[in-house]
Amino acid sequence: MTCEAVVAIDGPSGSGKSSMAKNLAEEMGLLYVDTGSMFRALALVAKKKGLPLTSEGITSDFLNSLEIEYGISENELIKVNGENLTNSIRDHQVSGLASQISQISNVRDFLRGFQRNLVKMKTCVMEGRDIGTVVFPKAFCKIYLTASDETRALRRLKQLQEKGETTLELSDVLRDVRKRDEDDSKRSLAPLKQAEDALFIDTTLMSTEDVLEKLKNIVLEKAKIRGVELKKVH
Ligand code: C5P
Repeated sequence: MTCEAVVAIDGPSGSGKSSMAKNLAEEMGLLYVDTGSMFRALALVAKKKGLPLTSEGITSDFLNSLEIEYGISENELIKVNGENLTNSIRDHQVSGLASQISQISNVRDFLRGFQRNLVKMKTCVMEGRDIGTVVFPKAFCKIYLTASDETRALRRLKQLQEKGETTLELSDVLRDVRKRDEDDSKRSLAPLKQAEDALFIDTTLMSTEDVLEKLKNIVLEKAKIRGVELKKVH
């Protein structure tokens, strides 16, 4: 079976997949792709336009009017129609909006096409909810990362506090993380779940260094076994 030159990392929010995928890509010279940022950016643009986040509100005409630019630099991770949304997509309320918009089938179709195009030139480390199950079912390496709810909420709270968020309590974040997990896992389209051939890693008790080391070894081993050449960005 021919496989796709993608490292697919899926898992719930706060599992550490974003920072791990980013570090892994950097260390291995691969392209880091954060697919959550795309759902967030679309939700933000639609909200600013006053569109309802439903299949009636998010039309094909609206989606086709969007020009998405991804990965120009760390400070310009995502732009839509020329507007840099890299910082604003991280606001806490955007998480819920992204989860809402992610349930709409033409949004998923639109972003899946965009995500598949990104790997044509480079080997990507792509993270999200459905990368190993739907977007790249033949990815040569699939990982499912998770951690306990409390650990994930704590990590999320820390990230938000680093961004200057001072009003949220751990209990608020824990509630929101659980609600989003439930919505993401129970939706009918491309729900969050572990691909059958994905390696399961629970990061609750692991240090960042240990997780990263483990991931690097897995990627190198899988690439060797499956004869995948890693096309590097630098
Ligand atoms: O990963 P992040 O928390 O930024 O994702 C925001 C939301 O986007 C998720 O809660 C999920 O609803 C949606 N998403 C998705 N499929 C992906 C990535 C994100 O449905 N591949």
